[in-house]
Amino acid sequence: GVKRFVTMSNGDFVEPLNLFKQELEKLAKLQRKLARQKKGSRNSRKTKRKIARLHRYIVDSRRDFLHKTSTKIAKNHSIVYVEDLKVSNMSASAGGTKESPGKNVRQKSGLNRSILDQGWYSFFQMLSYKLERGGGKLIKVDPRNTSRTCPRCGFVSAENRKSQATFACIGCGYRSNADEVGAINILRAGRVRLACGTSGAVRPLSAGTQRDLLQH
Ligand SMILES: [Zn+2]
Repeated sequence: GVKRFVTMSNGDFVEPLNLFKQELEKLAKLQRKLARQKKGSRNSRKTKRKIARLHRYIVDSRRDFLHKTSTKIAKNHSIVYVEDLKVSNMSASAGGTKESPGKNVRQKSGLNRSILDQGWYSFFQMLSYKLERGGGKLIKVDPRNTSRTCPRCGFVSAENRKSQATFACIGCGYRSNADEVGAINILRAGRVRLACGTSGAVRPLSAGTQRDLLQH
């Protein structure tokens, strides 16, 4: 599972909203209960209301969490580089990916799906407009190799990534938290991209081309 919601290149991180697990279990229990109850009965209507209330509570809590987290980051930074999730497909869930869905995906679609994902899309949107409000920018970076490149010696290998949490370079022995290594590499890749997109071109780029360069 996700142990960190956000990790910064300086090692700071934000834990995911913890109430989720507990509340999601409660929600799953209510949904099982509803499945057992007779359709249209008084009891099933009561359970449905409980489910709707809990669902609203979870959605509101997450929205609040995303707002607080994005406000805090936007307050202390002007340009923020993030992993382009379109490329890394971090939304893979329920034991499968979009291309090859796991067997639980169907069951978990609909009501649950909206709360199972960590809300990256909304988070990036919030962060982006808050940064732009202050004259800054959110820049999405292609995350290729960013989880397996050693930030100290530059050695690239899948074996550098020992587990979800641990990075240990088989070249130089550098060890660190894997998310932190990813964040450092995203920052570096983003800076290179920004430099190339603004000054590396032979002729001035159109706004559209620049945007494409930044977002790919
Ligand atoms: Zn190394």
